[in-house]
Formats: sequence, C-alpha cells, structure tokens
Amino acid sequence: MTNVEPLPYVYDALEPFIDEETMKIHHDKHHQAYFEKYMSAVTGTEFEGKDVTNALQNLDKVPAQIRDVVRNNGGGYFHHSFFWKILKKDVSCTGPVADAITTKWGSLDTFKEKFKTNAMSVFGSGWTWLVVNEKKELEIVTTLNQDSPISSGTKPILSIDVWEHAYYLKYQNRRAEYIDAFFNIINWNVVNELYQAAL
Ligand code: MN
Repeated sequence: MTNVEPLPYVYDALEPFIDEETMKIHHDKHHQAYFEKYMSAVTGTEFEGKDVTNALQNLDKVPAQIRDVVRNNGGGYFHHSFFWKILKKDVSCTGPVADAITTKWGSLDTFKEKFKTNAMSVFGSGWTWLVVNEKKELEIVTTLNQDSPISSGTKPILSIDVWEHAYYLKYQNRRAEYIDAFFNIINWNVVNELYQAAL
C-alpha cells in the first residue's frame, strides 16, 4: 500500500496551537488509515484511480456493499487532505472572503463566535465547515463522523476537525481551547482561493 500524500509543511509548523505529536499521529496514523481503507475498498470498481471527490459526490453510484466504507474512509481521506491545506500560522483574514463574512455576519468576530458555537455543539465525532451553498452564500454546517459536505452539493472552504483525536493529546477535554487556537492557524489565502473557485 502506498502512503497518503505528506503534510504540506513540517510536523511542528503549527506549534504551539497544534502540537507536533498530534500532527504526527493525526497524519501518519489516522489519515493514513482512512486512505488505505478507502483505496482498498475501491480497488476493482469504477472509482479506482479517480479522485476521491468523485465517489463522495456520487455515493448513490458506489456499489452498495462498499458504500459505508467509502463514505467513512473516503470522507476521512478527503477531509484530512483538505484540513491540512487550510492551516497555516500568521495569515490575516483579508480579501473577498473577509468581505463576504462581514456582509453575512457583520464582523469577523461574530463569525468566529458562530463557528465556535457550532463546533462546540457537535456531539461525538464530526466536523464544522464553512461552505458555499447552492445559492452561492456562505453557511456554517456540521457533518457527523466523516460524512462529507460535498455529498450534499455544497463547496467547503474552511473546516475544523472536532474528533477528539484532533486535539486530545494537548487539550484533553478542552475543545473550546482547541477551537480558539484554531482561529490562529487559518490559511486565509487558501480559503480565499477556495471561495473564489466556489463562486
Ligand atoms: Mn481527524
């Protein structure tokens, strides 16, 4: 089995907000496992060799006997690749997405409050997303487990992983602190690119 793509930065690049050990386990163990299970499930199907988004956007076309495995592990594979990409220290929120956030929520701080409230309310394992919905509007949504926002036709531009494995080593049960830390490591440049591509 091949390896999932490497992190786009070194393991300690997000210190002190996300610690090196968490990044190693999260990427090398969790992300890798999702990737391996997904790749092995689609071997010999029409989805072999295609981008994982293809399967997640067409779950109804995935053979029934592997659909749950693809939803969970294809989701886990895609979501982590996405998540690594939108993380970086010291990027300020500017550009078209900053304007759109202000238009929708009044201020960046209000958006952060709403996003945090959503992320705090995820019961069990899941993700909070900022997506561009089918009306081309920004929306904060939750998905449970590894269910994907792209399976329901929205376009994600920002996410936070609130599975305990994403923060437990450093923050234990203090999810609120992890979410506050997350706001320091959003790569708004990439979020802007995703936002403009989604429109
Ligand atoms: Mn995770």
